[in-house]
Amino acid sequence: MGTTSLRDGDGQVYDAKAILGAAHGYQHSALGPLPQSEFHGGLPTARKLRDLGFAVDEPTVARRNPVWSRDELILALDLYMRHRLAFPDDKHPEVVALSQFLNRLGAAMGTAGGKRFRNANGVAMKLQNFRRFDPTQEGKGLPGGGKGEEEVWAVFAHDAKRLRSAAEGIRATVLVLEDAPEQELEEEGEEAEEGRVLTRLHRTRERDRKIVERRKAKALRDHGSLHCEACGFDFAIRYGKRGNGFIECHHTKPVSTLLPGDKTKLEELVLLCANCHRIVHIRRPWMSIDELKLALQGKTGSAPNLRIKKT
Ligand SMILES: [Zn+2]
Ligand SMILES: [Zn+2]
Repeated sequence: MGTTSLRDGDGQVYDAKAILGAAHGYQHSALGPLPQSEFHGGLPTARKLRDLGFAVDEPTVARRNPVWSRDELILALDLYMRHRLAFPDDKHPEVVALSQFLNRLGAAMGTAGGKRFRNANGVAMKLQNFRRFDPTQEGKGLPGGGKGEEEVWAVFAHDAKRLRSAAEGIRATVLVLEDAPEQELEEEGEEAEEGRVLTRLHRTRERDRKIVERRKAKALRDHGSLHCEACGFDFAIRYGKRGNGFIECHHTKPVSTLLPGDKTKLEELVLLCANCHRIVHIRRPWMSIDELKLALQGKTGSAPNLRIKKT
């Protein structure tokens, strides 16, 4: 974070926080100067000082750009894979187009940062970050970058179809999100390997009232009860009247194939109790229903990542 500073007529530069603190003291003499701990510096301070008639130099790094999300990395990798033979720079029309699209995505998801958010130069650099994982590039590329690139590379670099399909799904869904930004869904568990945009689309599918009611009606017709199709839990039996009619739906269609406007088919939904549904989504990669059933039989249930330390 840069420091907000301001200049007087002689070009003398002062620290904005100190000035604002002192100014507060003059304005409210009974209270005395405001100590630095009482307010935050940065942009709000700069604005306040400008209101008071000072010339303010904005902090040079006004807002740090957020770490690249999975959605963004998938779109970048998609571009990378199509152009790695003739490596594109920041003037390349597709790099420029991706930069513009990422700004739309950022606005739709509420993650857009400052002026330089995902500019063409930043996009071109991100492509370089992927390059270092690519055996066809013989050690070219930038050493930097986060864990995100490595994860996205591992999942998608060798599955061109899934990558293409996920990127298309994200692009199409963002255009829909722009029209309905208020549809903020709470998200439990980890986002899918395909990122947040398609995770949201998955959630809207399984919470679509109409199809969910039809799916439940079918289960009642077939079995005369609503029970979890993985563990057998029946809310009506366990909780009595209050649990009557309650069960969650999980959408089993691969997330990379989701597109806005698709019709959910009845057979794509399975009924799961709340616990099983949470477990499916709790971490990446999401579990398939077969894996869930195996885990319930104790066959793969132990969590390999969980090590309990003896003290
Ligand atoms: Zn689900
Ligand atoms: Zn269950």
